[in-house]
Amino acid sequence: MTNIADMKLAELRDALKAKKVSSLEATDAYLGRIEKAKSLNAFIINTPEKAREMAKASDQKLGKDEGGPLEGVPLGIKDLYCTEGVQTTAASHILNGFTPRYESSVTANLWRDGGVMLGKLNMDEFAMGSSNETSFYGNVINPWRRNDGGNTDLTPGGSSGGSAASVAAKLCAAATATDTGGSIRQPASLTGTVGVKPTYGRCSRWGIVAFASSLDQAGPIAQDVRDSAIMLKSMAGHDPKDSTSIDCPVPDYEAALGQSLKGLKIGVPKEYRLDGMPGEIETLWQQGINWMKDAGCEIVDISLPLTKYALPVYYIVAPAEASSNLARYDGVKYGYRTQDYDDITSMYEKTRAEGFGEEVKRRVLIGTYVLSAGYYDAYYLRAQKVRKKIFDEFTDAFNKVDLILTPSAPSAAFALGEKSADPLEMYLNDVFTVTANLAGIPGASVPAGLDKQGLPLGLQLLARPFDEETMFKGMYALEQAAGFTARPNEWWG
Ligand code: GLN
Repeated sequence: MTNIADMKLAELRDALKAKKVSSLEATDAYLGRIEKAKSLNAFIINTPEKAREMAKASDQKLGKDEGGPLEGVPLGIKDLYCTEGVQTTAASHILNGFTPRYESSVTANLWRDGGVMLGKLNMDEFAMGSSNETSFYGNVINPWRRNDGGNTDLTPGGSSGGSAASVAAKLCAAATATDTGGSIRQPASLTGTVGVKPTYGRCSRWGIVAFASSLDQAGPIAQDVRDSAIMLKSMAGHDPKDSTSIDCPVPDYEAALGQSLKGLKIGVPKEYRLDGMPGEIETLWQQGINWMKDAGCEIVDISLPLTKYALPVYYIVAPAEASSNLARYDGVKYGYRTQDYDDITSMYEKTRAEGFGEEVKRRVLIGTYVLSAGYYDAYYLRAQKVRKKIFDEFTDAFNKVDLILTPSAPSAAFALGEKSADPLEMYLNDVFTVTANLAGIPGASVPAGLDKQGLPLGLQLLARPFDEETMFKGMYALEQAAGFTARPNEWWG
Protein backbone atom coordinates (compact mmCIF):
# COMPACT_ATOMS: atom_id res chain seq x y z
CA MET A 1 0.00 0.00 0.00
CA THR A 2 1.19 3.53 -0.71
CA ASN A 3 2.23 5.64 2.25
CA ILE A 4 -0.98 7.01 3.73
CA ALA A 5 0.34 10.56 3.56
CA ASP A 6 0.93 10.16 -0.19
CA MET A 7 -2.75 9.63 -0.86
CA LYS A 8 -4.87 12.31 -2.43
CA LEU A 9 -7.61 13.62 -0.16
CA ALA A 10 -10.31 11.77 -2.13
CA GLU A 11 -8.37 8.53 -1.93
CA LEU A 12 -7.81 8.91 1.81
CA ARG A 13 -11.47 9.79 2.36
CA ASP A 14 -12.50 6.58 0.59
CA ALA A 15 -9.88 4.45 2.39
CA LEU A 16 -11.08 5.81 5.73
CA LYS A 17 -14.72 5.05 4.93
CA ALA A 18 -13.73 1.55 3.80
CA LYS A 19 -11.78 1.17 7.09
CA LYS A 20 -8.61 0.31 5.18
CA VAL A 21 -6.78 2.93 7.22
CA SER A 22 -7.62 4.77 10.42
CA SER A 23 -7.63 8.49 10.91
CA LEU A 24 -5.10 8.08 13.71
CA GLU A 25 -2.70 6.31 11.33
CA ALA A 26 -3.17 9.03 8.72
CA THR A 27 -2.75 11.77 11.33
CA ASP A 28 0.43 10.20 12.71
CA ALA A 29 1.81 9.81 9.19
CA TYR A 30 1.31 13.52 8.53
CA LEU A 31 2.60 14.58 11.96
CA GLY A 32 5.77 12.57 11.28
CA ARG A 33 6.22 14.34 7.95
CA ILE A 34 5.62 17.76 9.45
CA GLU A 35 8.34 17.04 12.02
CA LYS A 36 10.79 16.09 9.26
CA ALA A 37 9.92 19.06 7.08
CA LYS A 38 10.60 21.72 9.72
CA SER A 39 13.13 23.40 7.41
CA LEU A 40 10.29 24.42 5.07
CA ASN A 41 8.81 26.50 7.93
CA ALA A 42 5.31 25.84 6.60
CA PHE A 43 3.65 25.60 10.03
CA ILE A 44 3.59 28.32 12.69
CA ILE A 45 2.24 25.90 15.27
CA ASN A 46 1.53 22.20 15.28
CA THR A 47 -1.36 20.84 17.30
CA PRO A 48 -0.48 17.14 17.58
CA GLU A 49 -2.52 16.44 20.73
CA LYS A 50 -5.59 18.08 19.30
CA ALA A 51 -5.04 16.28 16.00
CA ARG A 52 -4.85 12.87 17.67
CA GLU A 53 -7.89 13.61 19.79
CA MET A 54 -9.90 14.63 16.74
CA ALA A 55 -8.61 11.59 14.82
CA LYS A 56 -9.68 9.22 17.59
CA ALA A 57 -13.14 10.77 17.65
CA SER A 58 -13.33 10.34 13.88
CA ASP A 59 -12.23 6.73 14.10
CA GLN A 60 -15.06 6.03 16.53
CA LYS A 61 -17.56 7.48 14.08
CA LEU A 62 -16.03 5.71 11.10
CA GLY A 63 -16.14 2.46 13.08
CA LYS A 64 -19.94 2.87 13.29
CA ASP A 65 -20.18 3.84 9.59
CA GLU A 66 -21.01 7.35 10.64
CA GLY A 67 -19.32 10.67 10.09
CA GLY A 68 -19.18 13.51 7.58
CA PRO A 69 -17.74 13.85 4.09
CA LEU A 70 -14.26 14.66 5.45
CA GLU A 71 -14.38 12.29 8.41
CA GLY A 72 -10.86 11.68 9.70
CA VAL A 73 -9.04 13.69 6.99
CA PRO A 74 -6.04 15.67 8.37
CA LEU A 75 -5.92 19.32 7.26
CA GLY A 76 -3.68 22.35 7.61
CA ILE A 77 -5.25 25.70 8.52
CA LYS A 78 -3.89 29.06 7.44
CA ASP A 79 -3.14 31.08 10.57
CA LEU A 80 -5.62 33.75 9.47
CA TYR A 81 -8.52 31.53 10.59
CA CYS A 82 -9.47 31.89 14.24
CA THR A 83 -9.36 28.53 15.95
CA GLU A 84 -10.91 28.12 19.38
CA GLY A 85 -8.29 27.53 22.06
CA VAL A 86 -5.44 27.52 19.53
CA GLN A 87 -3.22 30.56 19.11
CA THR A 88 -4.06 32.59 15.99
CA THR A 89 -1.48 35.15 14.92
CA ALA A 90 -2.05 36.10 11.25
CA ALA A 91 1.77 35.74 11.24
CA SER A 92 1.97 39.08 13.06
CA HIS A 93 3.83 39.89 16.25
CA ILE A 94 0.91 42.09 17.27
CA LEU A 95 -1.28 38.99 17.73
CA ASN A 96 1.36 37.25 19.80
CA GLY A 97 -0.38 35.01 22.31
CA PHE A 98 -3.89 35.69 21.00
CA THR A 99 -6.02 32.60 21.58
CA PRO A 100 -9.54 32.99 20.22
CA ARG A 101 -12.48 31.80 22.25
CA TYR A 102 -14.37 31.15 19.05
CA GLU A 103 -13.96 29.18 15.85
CA SER A 104 -14.15 30.71 12.37
CA SER A 105 -17.26 29.58 10.50
CA VAL A 106 -15.24 27.97 7.70
CA THR A 107 -13.10 25.87 10.05
CA ALA A 108 -16.22 25.02 12.09
CA ASN A 109 -17.73 23.70 8.83
CA LEU A 110 -14.63 21.56 8.25
CA TRP A 111 -14.75 20.09 11.78
CA ARG A 112 -18.51 19.52 11.42
CA ASP A 113 -17.71 17.46 8.30
CA GLY A 114 -15.06 15.43 10.15
CA GLY A 115 -11.78 17.22 9.32
CA VAL A 116 -8.81 16.86 11.68
CA MET A 117 -6.61 19.88 12.43
CA LEU A 118 -2.84 19.29 12.17
CA GLY A 119 -1.81 22.87 12.96
CA LYS A 120 -1.70 26.47 11.79
CA LEU A 121 0.07 27.41 8.59
CA ASN A 122 2.55 30.18 7.97
CA MET A 123 1.59 33.12 5.76
CA ASP A 124 2.48 36.72 4.99
CA GLU A 125 1.70 39.04 7.90
CA PHE A 126 -2.05 39.79 7.79
CA ALA A 127 -2.00 38.16 4.33
CA MET A 128 -0.12 41.12 2.87
CA GLY A 129 2.44 39.83 0.42
CA SER A 130 3.14 37.54 -2.52
CA SER A 131 6.15 35.61 -1.25
CA ASN A 132 5.50 34.74 2.40
CA GLU A 133 8.49 36.91 3.31
CA THR A 134 6.53 39.36 5.47
CA SER A 135 5.68 36.72 8.10
CA PHE A 136 6.88 37.48 11.64
CA TYR A 137 7.71 33.78 11.81
CA GLY A 138 10.07 33.89 8.84
CA ASN A 139 9.65 32.93 5.23
CA VAL A 140 8.36 29.60 4.00
CA ILE A 141 10.56 27.65 1.59
CA ASN A 142 9.04 26.25 -1.58
CA PRO A 143 9.51 22.46 -1.74
CA TRP A 144 10.29 22.91 -5.45
CA ARG A 145 13.82 23.74 -6.56
CA ARG A 146 15.29 24.71 -9.90
CA ASN A 147 16.86 21.80 -11.74
CA ASP A 148 20.17 23.66 -12.07
CA GLY A 149 21.64 21.92 -9.02
CA GLY A 150 22.12 25.29 -7.31
CA ASN A 151 19.83 24.52 -4.35
CA THR A 152 18.57 28.10 -4.30
CA ASP A 153 15.69 28.46 -1.85
CA LEU A 154 12.60 29.69 -3.68
CA THR A 155 9.46 31.33 -2.39
CA PRO A 156 6.21 29.32 -2.41
CA GLY A 157 4.37 32.57 -3.24
CA GLY A 158 2.02 34.28 -0.84
CA SER A 159 0.25 35.15 1.16
CA SER A 160 -0.88 31.52 1.60
CA GLY A 161 2.70 30.26 1.29
CA GLY A 162 2.42 27.81 4.18
CA SER A 163 -0.77 26.34 2.74
CA ALA A 164 0.75 25.90 -0.71
CA ALA A 165 4.09 24.53 0.52
CA SER A 166 2.47 22.07 2.94
CA VAL A 167 0.18 20.69 0.24
CA ALA A 168 3.04 20.47 -2.30
CA ALA A 169 5.21 18.66 0.25
CA LYS A 170 2.25 16.48 1.34
CA LEU A 171 2.34 17.60 4.95
CA CYS A 172 -1.49 17.61 5.03
CA ALA A 173 -4.24 16.21 2.83
CA ALA A 174 -5.34 19.75 1.91
CA ALA A 175 -5.24 23.23 3.40
CA THR A 176 -7.38 26.29 3.88
CA ALA A 177 -6.15 29.56 2.40
CA THR A 178 -7.48 33.04 1.72
CA ASP A 179 -7.37 35.27 -1.35
CA THR A 180 -7.67 39.06 -1.22
CA GLY A 181 -5.77 39.78 -4.44
CA GLY A 182 -4.41 36.40 -5.47
CA SER A 183 -3.13 34.72 -2.31
CA ILE A 184 -4.69 31.36 -3.12
CA ARG A 185 -4.08 31.24 -6.87
CA GLN A 186 -0.54 32.70 -7.05
CA PRO A 187 1.02 30.35 -4.43
CA ALA A 188 -0.88 27.42 -5.99
CA SER A 189 0.68 28.33 -9.32
CA LEU A 190 4.18 28.54 -7.81
CA THR A 191 3.91 25.15 -6.06
CA GLY A 192 2.12 22.93 -8.58
CA THR A 193 -1.05 22.76 -6.50
CA VAL A 194 -4.69 23.63 -7.19
CA GLY A 195 -6.07 26.81 -5.61
CA VAL A 196 -9.68 27.98 -5.69
CA LYS A 197 -10.93 31.45 -4.82
CA PRO A 198 -14.71 31.19 -4.80
CA THR A 199 -17.19 33.98 -5.46
CA TYR A 200 -17.19 36.74 -2.84
CA GLY A 201 -19.84 35.66 -0.35
CA ARG A 202 -19.58 31.92 -1.06
CA CYS A 203 -17.61 31.25 2.13
CA SER A 204 -18.20 33.03 5.39
CA ARG A 205 -15.55 35.53 6.47
CA TRP A 206 -16.69 35.30 10.09
CA GLY A 207 -13.74 34.51 12.34
CA ILE A 208 -11.15 35.06 9.63
CA VAL A 209 -8.78 37.88 10.59
CA ALA A 210 -9.83 40.75 8.29
CA PHE A 211 -7.42 42.27 5.78
CA ALA A 212 -9.61 43.99 3.16
CA SER A 213 -13.17 42.97 3.91
CA SER A 214 -14.69 43.66 0.49
CA LEU A 215 -12.02 41.53 -1.23
CA ASP A 216 -11.17 38.71 1.25
CA GLN A 217 -12.41 35.23 0.40
CA ALA A 218 -11.67 31.83 1.90
CA GLY A 219 -10.85 28.88 -0.32
CA PRO A 220 -8.83 25.67 -0.49
CA ILE A 221 -5.37 24.74 -1.75
CA ALA A 222 -5.31 21.06 -2.64
CA GLN A 223 -3.38 18.44 -4.56
CA ASP A 224 -5.79 18.19 -7.44
CA VAL A 225 -9.07 19.51 -8.77
CA ARG A 226 -11.20 16.80 -7.16
CA ASP A 227 -9.66 17.44 -3.74
CA SER A 228 -10.27 21.17 -4.10
CA ALA A 229 -13.92 20.50 -5.05
CA ILE A 230 -14.40 18.34 -1.95
CA MET A 231 -12.80 20.97 0.28
CA LEU A 232 -14.83 23.87 -1.09
CA LYS A 233 -18.09 21.97 -0.68
CA SER A 234 -17.38 21.65 3.05
CA MET A 235 -15.97 25.16 3.51
CA ALA A 236 -18.76 27.03 1.70
CA GLY A 237 -22.25 27.91 2.82
CA HIS A 238 -24.45 30.69 4.09
CA ASP A 239 -23.64 32.09 7.52
CA PRO A 240 -25.96 34.54 9.24
CA LYS A 241 -22.94 35.83 11.20
CA ASP A 242 -21.44 37.30 7.99
CA SER A 243 -23.83 39.76 6.36
CA THR A 244 -21.94 39.47 3.06
CA SER A 245 -22.30 35.70 2.95
CA ILE A 246 -24.85 34.76 0.32
CA ASP A 247 -27.77 32.48 0.99
CA CYS A 248 -27.72 30.17 -2.00
CA PRO A 249 -27.31 26.41 -2.21
CA VAL A 250 -23.80 24.94 -2.42
CA PRO A 251 -23.72 22.49 -5.32
CA ASP A 252 -21.86 19.18 -5.27
CA TYR A 253 -18.74 20.41 -7.07
CA GLU A 254 -17.25 16.94 -7.30
CA ALA A 255 -20.25 15.86 -9.37
CA ALA A 256 -19.38 18.52 -11.97
CA LEU A 257 -15.99 16.94 -12.70
CA GLY A 258 -15.84 15.08 -15.97
CA GLN A 259 -19.00 16.63 -17.39
CA SER A 260 -18.79 17.57 -21.05
CA LEU A 261 -17.53 21.01 -22.00
CA LYS A 262 -19.01 20.86 -25.47
CA GLY A 263 -20.28 24.22 -26.60
CA LEU A 264 -18.78 26.18 -23.71
CA LYS A 265 -17.29 29.50 -24.75
CA ILE A 266 -13.85 30.30 -23.40
CA GLY A 267 -12.74 33.93 -23.45
CA VAL A 268 -9.09 34.80 -23.98
CA PRO A 269 -8.40 38.40 -22.96
CA LYS A 270 -5.66 40.07 -24.94
CA GLU A 271 -4.78 42.43 -22.07
CA TYR A 272 -3.33 39.50 -20.09
CA ARG A 273 -0.51 39.26 -22.63
CA LEU A 274 2.18 41.21 -20.80
CA ASP A 275 5.42 42.68 -22.08
CA GLY A 276 8.35 40.84 -20.62
CA MET A 277 6.36 37.79 -19.57
CA PRO A 278 8.41 34.58 -19.96
CA GLY A 279 7.79 32.94 -23.35
CA GLU A 280 7.03 29.65 -21.60
CA ILE A 281 4.01 31.16 -19.87
CA GLU A 282 2.76 32.49 -23.20
CA THR A 283 3.28 29.03 -24.77
CA LEU A 284 1.52 27.27 -21.90
CA TRP A 285 -1.41 29.63 -22.22
CA GLN A 286 -1.68 28.79 -25.93
CA GLN A 287 -1.51 25.13 -25.03
CA GLY A 288 -4.35 25.66 -22.55
CA ILE A 289 -6.39 27.29 -25.30
CA ASN A 290 -5.78 24.25 -27.54
CA TRP A 291 -6.73 21.85 -24.73
CA MET A 292 -10.03 23.66 -24.24
CA LYS A 293 -10.64 23.58 -27.99
CA ASP A 294 -9.96 19.83 -28.02
CA ALA A 295 -12.46 19.43 -25.18
CA GLY A 296 -15.14 20.88 -27.46
CA CYS A 297 -15.05 24.52 -26.36
CA GLU A 298 -15.31 27.52 -28.61
CA ILE A 299 -12.49 30.02 -28.13
CA VAL A 300 -13.48 33.68 -28.18
CA ASP A 301 -10.99 36.56 -28.22
CA ILE A 302 -12.15 39.14 -25.73
CA SER A 303 -10.92 42.50 -24.51
CA LEU A 304 -10.81 43.66 -20.90
CA PRO A 305 -9.21 47.10 -21.35
CA LEU A 306 -9.58 48.12 -17.71
CA THR A 307 -7.20 45.35 -16.62
CA LYS A 308 -4.38 47.89 -16.56
CA TYR A 309 -6.12 49.79 -13.77
CA ALA A 310 -6.70 46.73 -11.60
CA LEU A 311 -3.44 46.85 -9.64
CA PRO A 312 -3.60 50.61 -8.95
CA VAL A 313 -7.24 50.27 -7.86
CA TYR A 314 -6.41 47.27 -5.67
CA TYR A 315 -3.51 49.07 -4.01
CA ILE A 316 -5.86 51.89 -3.01
CA VAL A 317 -8.90 49.85 -1.94
CA ALA A 318 -7.03 47.07 -0.11
CA PRO A 319 -4.81 49.36 2.02
CA ALA A 320 -7.78 51.64 2.74
CA GLU A 321 -9.78 48.75 4.17
CA ALA A 322 -6.72 47.33 5.89
CA SER A 323 -5.97 50.59 7.64
CA SER A 324 -9.45 50.60 9.19
CA ASN A 325 -9.47 46.88 9.96
CA LEU A 326 -6.08 47.03 11.65
CA ALA A 327 -7.04 50.00 13.82
CA ARG A 328 -8.32 47.48 16.38
CA TYR A 329 -4.79 46.33 17.26
CA ASP A 330 -4.03 48.84 19.95
CA GLY A 331 -2.44 46.75 22.69
CA VAL A 332 -5.68 46.66 24.67
CA LYS A 333 -7.94 44.08 23.07
CA TYR A 334 -5.60 41.52 21.52
CA GLY A 335 -2.19 39.95 21.79
CA TYR A 336 0.91 42.06 22.10
CA ARG A 337 1.39 45.18 24.27
CA THR A 338 4.61 47.15 24.54
CA GLN A 339 6.42 46.85 27.90
CA ASP A 340 7.56 50.38 28.23
CA TYR A 341 5.25 53.42 27.92
CA ASP A 342 4.36 56.66 29.66
CA ASP A 343 0.69 57.13 28.91
CA ILE A 344 -2.09 55.59 26.87
CA THR A 345 -1.12 57.38 23.66
CA SER A 346 2.46 56.25 23.82
CA MET A 347 1.22 52.73 24.64
CA TYR A 348 -0.84 52.68 21.43
CA GLU A 349 1.98 54.14 19.36
CA LYS A 350 4.71 51.87 20.67
CA THR A 351 2.56 48.75 20.55
CA ARG A 352 1.78 49.38 16.89
CA ALA A 353 5.33 50.41 16.04
CA GLU A 354 6.72 47.24 17.62
CA GLY A 355 3.90 44.88 16.71
CA PHE A 356 3.50 45.49 12.97
CA GLY A 357 6.06 44.66 10.31
CA GLU A 358 7.25 46.97 7.53
CA GLU A 359 4.77 45.90 4.84
CA VAL A 360 1.81 46.19 7.19
CA LYS A 361 2.93 49.67 8.24
CA ARG A 362 3.27 50.66 4.59
CA ARG A 363 -0.32 49.55 3.92
CA VAL A 364 -1.70 51.30 7.01
CA LEU A 365 0.02 54.54 5.97
CA ILE A 366 -1.16 54.33 2.34
CA GLY A 367 -4.67 53.43 3.48
CA THR A 368 -4.86 56.27 5.97
CA TYR A 369 -3.61 58.66 3.32
CA VAL A 370 -6.11 57.68 0.61
CA LEU A 371 -8.96 57.89 3.12
CA SER A 372 -7.91 61.26 4.54
CA ALA A 373 -10.32 64.14 4.02
CA GLY A 374 -8.14 65.92 1.48
CA TYR A 375 -7.45 62.90 -0.71
CA TYR A 376 -10.57 60.75 -0.35
CA ASP A 377 -12.16 61.94 -3.61
CA ALA A 378 -8.93 61.87 -5.57
CA TYR A 379 -7.97 58.32 -4.60
CA TYR A 380 -10.47 56.19 -2.71
CA LEU A 381 -13.64 57.40 -4.40
CA ARG A 382 -12.08 57.30 -7.84
CA ALA A 383 -10.74 53.80 -7.21
CA GLN A 384 -14.22 52.64 -6.17
CA LYS A 385 -15.65 54.03 -9.42
CA VAL A 386 -13.06 52.21 -11.51
CA ARG A 387 -13.71 49.07 -9.48
CA LYS A 388 -17.38 49.23 -10.49
CA LYS A 389 -16.35 49.61 -14.12
CA ILE A 390 -14.09 46.57 -13.86
CA PHE A 391 -17.08 44.63 -12.53
CA ASP A 392 -19.20 45.89 -15.46
CA GLU A 393 -16.50 44.89 -17.91
CA PHE A 394 -16.53 41.32 -16.58
CA THR A 395 -20.33 41.26 -16.65
CA ASP A 396 -20.23 42.23 -20.36
CA ALA A 397 -17.55 39.62 -21.04
CA PHE A 398 -19.62 36.92 -19.34
CA ASN A 399 -22.53 37.76 -21.62
CA LYS A 400 -20.33 36.45 -24.42
CA VAL A 401 -18.30 33.69 -22.76
CA ASP A 402 -18.73 31.11 -19.98
CA LEU A 403 -15.17 31.04 -18.68
CA ILE A 404 -12.04 33.14 -19.10
CA LEU A 405 -8.63 31.48 -19.45
CA THR A 406 -5.41 33.29 -18.48
CA PRO A 407 -2.05 32.48 -16.91
CA SER A 408 -2.21 32.45 -13.09
CA ALA A 409 0.98 34.39 -12.38
CA PRO A 410 3.51 36.30 -14.48
CA SER A 411 6.44 34.13 -13.35
CA ALA A 412 7.38 30.78 -11.86
CA ALA A 413 8.65 30.60 -8.25
CA PHE A 414 11.40 33.17 -7.66
CA ALA A 415 14.26 33.20 -5.20
CA LEU A 416 13.80 34.43 -1.66
CA GLY A 417 14.83 38.07 -1.49
CA GLU A 418 14.66 38.48 -5.27
CA LYS A 419 11.68 40.84 -5.26
CA SER A 420 11.44 41.94 -1.64
CA ALA A 421 13.50 45.11 -2.02
CA ASP A 422 10.98 46.73 -4.34
CA PRO A 423 7.34 46.67 -3.19
CA LEU A 424 6.09 47.64 -6.66
CA GLU A 425 7.81 44.67 -8.25
CA MET A 426 6.27 42.42 -5.61
CA TYR A 427 2.81 43.88 -6.28
CA LEU A 428 3.12 42.91 -9.96
CA ASN A 429 2.79 39.24 -8.98
CA ASP A 430 -0.94 39.78 -8.63
CA VAL A 431 -1.49 41.34 -12.04
CA PHE A 432 -3.61 38.38 -13.28
CA THR A 433 -5.42 37.66 -10.05
CA VAL A 434 -6.56 40.95 -8.46
CA THR A 435 -9.24 41.58 -11.09
CA ALA A 436 -11.31 38.65 -9.81
CA ASN A 437 -11.25 40.02 -6.26
CA LEU A 438 -12.22 43.50 -7.42
CA ALA A 439 -15.16 42.04 -9.38
CA GLY A 440 -16.03 39.41 -6.74
CA ILE A 441 -15.97 36.59 -9.30
CA PRO A 442 -14.54 33.09 -8.75
CA GLY A 443 -11.10 32.15 -10.03
CA ALA A 444 -8.86 29.11 -9.79
CA SER A 445 -5.35 28.03 -10.65
CA VAL A 446 -4.55 24.58 -12.04
CA PRO A 447 -0.97 23.32 -12.51
CA ALA A 448 -0.46 22.92 -16.23
CA GLY A 449 3.24 22.46 -16.94
CA LEU A 450 6.86 22.99 -15.94
CA ASP A 451 9.22 25.71 -17.12
CA LYS A 452 12.71 24.95 -18.38
CA GLN A 453 14.03 25.08 -14.81
CA GLY A 454 11.58 22.37 -13.83
CA LEU A 455 9.28 24.70 -11.88
CA PRO A 456 5.48 24.48 -12.02
CA LEU A 457 3.31 26.99 -13.89
CA GLY A 458 -0.43 27.40 -13.48
CA LEU A 459 -3.32 28.41 -15.69
CA GLN A 460 -6.21 30.43 -14.31
CA LEU A 461 -9.91 30.08 -15.04
CA LEU A 462 -12.37 32.83 -14.13
CA ALA A 463 -16.13 32.30 -14.04
CA ARG A 464 -19.43 34.10 -13.51
CA PRO A 465 -20.40 34.88 -9.92
CA PHE A 466 -21.62 31.70 -8.17
CA ASP A 467 -20.85 29.56 -11.21
CA GLU A 468 -18.02 27.61 -9.59
CA GLU A 469 -19.53 24.45 -11.09
CA THR A 470 -18.65 25.48 -14.64
CA MET A 471 -15.25 26.58 -13.37
CA PHE A 472 -14.65 23.13 -11.83
CA LYS A 473 -15.70 21.47 -15.11
CA GLY A 474 -13.14 23.57 -16.94
CA MET A 475 -10.45 23.00 -14.30
CA TYR A 476 -10.91 19.26 -14.53
CA ALA A 477 -10.60 19.35 -18.32
CA LEU A 478 -7.39 21.36 -18.04
CA GLU A 479 -6.03 18.96 -15.45
CA GLN A 480 -6.85 15.93 -17.59
CA ALA A 481 -5.26 17.47 -20.67
CA ALA A 482 -2.16 18.73 -18.86
CA GLY A 483 -1.62 15.43 -17.05
CA PHE A 484 0.53 17.25 -14.51
CA THR A 485 2.02 14.63 -12.17
CA ALA A 486 5.44 16.15 -11.36
CA ARG A 487 6.41 16.33 -7.70
CA PRO A 488 9.25 18.13 -5.96
CA ASN A 489 12.23 16.01 -4.87
CA GLU A 490 12.09 15.43 -1.14
CA TRP A 491 15.33 17.21 -0.28
CA TRP A 492 14.00 18.45 3.06
CA GLY A 493 14.22 15.09 4.84
N1 GLN B 1 -0.31 39.97 -2.79
C1 GLN B 1 -1.49 40.74 -2.57
C2 GLN B 1 -1.26 41.71 -1.44
O1 GLN B 1 -0.18 41.72 -0.90
C3 GLN B 1 -2.65 39.85 -2.29
C4 GLN B 1 -2.64 39.25 -0.96
C5 GLN B 1 -3.82 38.38 -0.68
O2 GLN B 1 -4.51 37.94 -1.60
N2 GLN B 1 -4.05 38.17 0.58
O3 GLN B 1 -2.12 42.45 -1.09
